[in-house]
Amino acid sequence: MSVDIEDWFQVGAFEKVIDRRDWNGLSDRVDRNVRLILDLFDEACVKATFFTLGWVAARHNSLMQELVARGHEVASHGWDHERVFTMDRAQFAADIDRARKQIEDAGGVRVQGYRAPSFSIDSRTPWAFEVLAEKGYRYSSSVAPIRHDHYGWAEAPPFAFHPLEGQDLIEIPVTTAKLGSRRLGAGGGGFFRILPYHFSRWAISQNIYKFERPAVFYFHPWEIDPDQPRVAAAPLRSRLRHYTKLEHMAGKLRRLLKEFSWGRMDELAQVEKARLESEAV
Ligand SMILES: [Zn+2]
Repeated sequence: MSVDIEDWFQVGAFEKVIDRRDWNGLSDRVDRNVRLILDLFDEACVKATFFTLGWVAARHNSLMQELVARGHEVASHGWDHERVFTMDRAQFAADIDRARKQIEDAGGVRVQGYRAPSFSIDSRTPWAFEVLAEKGYRYSSSVAPIRHDHYGWAEAPPFAFHPLEGQDLIEIPVTTAKLGSRRLGAGGGGFFRILPYHFSRWAISQNIYKFERPAVFYFHPWEIDPDQPRVAAAPLRSRLRHYTKLEHMAGKLRRLLKEFSWGRMDELAQVEKARLESEAV
């Protein structure tokens, strides 16, 4: 179970209409929303991983400490949601260093995992895994093995793999489902919020029972916040995706958290690594 900590104005879909330089002046709802999520997780006795923007960690030290104190993993979502394929190797290295330092200073724990903003590690960024391995990351969960208008690396393996020969780094792609020959996004976010609950239940069950692999699920703090400010200047398609069924999200999550058993990504990385080792023997 994972949460990508970013505020309502930091999402990829609004990138062209909200300038990063204006972020400081916008109403901050991330602290409140993450605390609501913490209560949902406590209710269901779920421990999870929070992939956090360095920008958010810099402004919410006590929230980072609260996450750690309540038994969750804090990991990196980069500095300010710049997608990996818009950077070069050196810029990427600087971005993840800056984010990691901020998150580690705030949370007081070591960051071991990384999730690229908008699943932006793909065939355009062959150096990204090398940089993560050089920096000592244990795992990444940055690939969406589907075709989608904003992201996706359809040719990538759908389950955990070692992206670099002879290196420990493991990539754990976000969950997809197979329908005939098609692979569908099914790991959370808009797919979970907008489609009926039964779609996600079917997709997750397919992974667990048919493929015998764990599901990797993600959502965002702003998705449980129906009262967030509206971005009128954004394209209609983005607005439809962003604002649909926000009011049902908390209830749906409650159901999902109870229906399956969930854990932290660092623990999953350990399990998947052991599995890959045993398969290699
Ligand atoms: Zn994100």
